Amino acid sequence: MSFDQLGLSEPVLRALAAKSYATPTPIQRQAIPPLRAGRDLLGIAQTGTGKTAAFVLPSIDRLVAANKRPAPFTCRMLVLAPTRELASQIAESAKAYGKFVKLSVGTVFGGTSIAANRRTVERGIDILVATPGRMLDLVDQRLLSLKDVEIFVLDEADQMLDLGFIHALRRTISLLPKQRQTLFFSATMPAAIKELADKLLTQPEQVVVTPVASATERVEQHITFVNQPEKQALLTLMLQQPEVERALVFSRTKHGADKVVKLLGANGVAANAIHGNKSQPQRERALAEFKSGKTPVLVATDIAARGIDVSGVSHVFNFDLPEVPEQYVHRIGRTGRADATGVAYAFCSEDERGLLRQIEKLTRKKVPVQPLPERFLERASQLVSRAPASPQSEQPQRRPHQPRPPAKRFSARPAGAGAGAGAGAQRSGRRRRAR
Ligand code: AMP
Repeated sequence: MSFDQLGLSEPVLRALAAKSYATPTPIQRQAIPPLRAGRDLLGIAQTGTGKTAAFVLPSIDRLVAANKRPAPFTCRMLVLAPTRELASQIAESAKAYGKFVKLSVGTVFGGTSIAANRRTVERGIDILVATPGRMLDLVDQRLLSLKDVEIFVLDEADQMLDLGFIHALRRTISLLPKQRQTLFFSATMPAAIKELADKLLTQPEQVVVTPVASATERVEQHITFVNQPEKQALLTLMLQQPEVERALVFSRTKHGADKVVKLLGANGVAANAIHGNKSQPQRERALAEFKSGKTPVLVATDIAARGIDVSGVSHVFNFDLPEVPEQYVHRIGRTGRADATGVAYAFCSEDERGLLRQIEKLTRKKVPVQPLPERFLERASQLVSRAPASPQSEQPQRRPHQPRPPAKRFSARPAGAGAGAGAGAQRSGRRRRAR
């Protein structure tokens, strides 16, 4: 099937040709016809499925066909997304897909100035992509009214709930006009999401694509057992492999992400961190450098990584295993997007084995074990294990010192152990527990 069989307009088809999209993805095939007809939609889908184009393309045609001008301080289509990165990404896509029509597209999210937000909406805007908190700030300051919203899109609803946006969403719903088209996307459907969807949607078309475990089919996965203190050296060595072209590294904490970046830098691997403590310009620069390939290693926390849509991520590294197993699937889905294949590595320390079991239970698959690299300990000992002291102003905020129990150690096999080292590490782990 091709895009023109979906009944999209000529300017939209031209924009798709400019993006070199040859065929619609499954969610685009299923969602575009009912959306063009004005139906509500419930989409169970995660990023990487092509869902942005699925909701933006038919919406562009409907907005153009209605041929209205937005009144000052209003928008005609409101897209709510949980994170700044995702909001920017959606707006960027909307601009690209709407390149040959006259529709205005803008974003509004935290970390930008209210004055700039005001300029975005003061003359009225056709497509506004926003995070919920800042959007409601504008409503409260009488800089935005939702009374003219023709199309309302809620993206990544489950993530919104996880981030505590439920009250903001309820309030948004109360501000929307009754007469509207509503599109609701979520990767999962827990009860709270279902309830919200029921409230928002009228006889929706339902589209289910790639359930949460599907990235596990596309992505080649490996797990390496390693002592926590040796993860940094392992990451450095693995990032130096020539096949690693662009890598996204996941760290559980913001502080951890900064530390990983510093130590990579000290060993000659250029990397940036992206997380909630970074300013908006810092986040944008990190993302731009990652996209352009200038700094092809990005170390991210889960929340910041939401919405990072960069094609050509060859590898995902789980420096820490995530606390929530679904997050693992989201993480590895950052590689192998839009039908490409990708590789994901996870580093598992002794105290993360329970998390690994949960992941394997969710995906119903055992993650194949990748042994430690050849001569790992010898090569690791040659790496710098301390980052150079940085100027005072750049020092990460230190948490109060917390005494820790001594780290349990796997006994990795000595130099030259090669492929057996990982297995050896596992065996010794088991021996210790048996004792
Ligand atoms: P999304 O799920 O909207 O985040 O899209 C995932 C990625 O797939 C983005 O990089 C899109 O640019 C890309 N994409 C979306 N639709 C298509 C298509 N029909 N053909 C090729 N790439 C696509």
